[in-house]
Amino acid sequence: MINFFKLSKEDVIKKITAAGFPAFRGKQLIDWIYNKNVFEVESMTNLDKSFKEYLDNNIKFVTLETIKLNEDEKGDTIKFLLLLGDRNTVEMVIMRYKDKDSSKNRNTLCLSSQVGCKVKCPFCATGTSGLVRNLKAEEIVQQVSIANAYLKQFDAKINNIVFMGMGEPFYNIDEVLHAALLIKENYEISNRKITISTSGIVDGIKELANKDLKYVLAISLHAPTDRIRDYLVPVNKKYPLNELIKACRYYQLKTKKRITFEYIMIDSMNIWPDDARQLANLLKGIDCHINGIPVNSVSGSEFKRPKKKDIYSFKKLCEEYGLSFSIREEKGTDIDGACGQLRNKERK
Ligand code: SF4
Repeated sequence: MINFFKLSKEDVIKKITAAGFPAFRGKQLIDWIYNKNVFEVESMTNLDKSFKEYLDNNIKFVTLETIKLNEDEKGDTIKFLLLLGDRNTVEMVIMRYKDKDSSKNRNTLCLSSQVGCKVKCPFCATGTSGLVRNLKAEEIVQQVSIANAYLKQFDAKINNIVFMGMGEPFYNIDEVLHAALLIKENYEISNRKITISTSGIVDGIKELANKDLKYVLAISLHAPTDRIRDYLVPVNKKYPLNELIKACRYYQLKTKKRITFEYIMIDSMNIWPDDARQLANLLKGIDCHINGIPVNSVSGSEFKRPKKKDIYSFKKLCEEYGLSFSIREEKGTDIDGACGQLRNKERK
């Protein structure tokens, strides 16, 4: 049995014609999956009996099951807990950005690339469980179909992808790149609308730069010095800041793409005036934008959310040093929105 979501649309037609069915059957099947969001063969009413039998015996469809779905009050953030075939679970989040002009509405899917994560950032609920396993490309791709099936009630679709959910994408690079290619081909989401976010795996950044695929690169920077970053993003001990920044410059040279740096803002830790100065020095000459993300205060955690005035004075200082800086409120704080929280709660 092959998984449908491992195949491009072209591969589906090839497979079906090779089995002796006319190409239009393949097109009907593709229409059911990608346009109608129907994944059960028995519900595909215009397929004949022999073709349905062939599908039942040869092709697997969605193998992920939504076991929990939390929506925030406004319905802008929807978090899914998905059960995989081997009973592991992963999360994905839809973030809806509504505009006055509804044609400009954006629906972003934050998807997972691994079950757990071995980077073990101390502020992240996913890291606490360590790595369980890599997701396969088809398990990554299916997340988009599940999201589109949910959005169908609003006559909407996913139009942006961020690999920012559970896992470090560069520790599963082959499956992630295969999935990204399938997402582009099968859901018509261009590479410039796909963001790959890394904790700073230098080898992965260079490899991606050499492929020149023009994905948006996001780096979880979180600190301007190795001293703080060694603690917040432990992989920094292997890939210290000077190597990371060199790799970012290389990525920009190759792709000409602006880089996003994520910067989690933690009270009394990484938003001192001197941090702004060091950050500006570190990023000098890189065309970039910084997303400041005030940390969620979770009870019992050592990481405290800074006061609003401290958040905004750090932003102002960074801007005075010439950095482009915006504050991104973590969406879905009322629904265990931060990565890994929902899964951890369910496991308990
Ligand atoms: S923040 Fe990202 S890289 Fe760090 S432990 Fe969590 S999932 Fe892994």
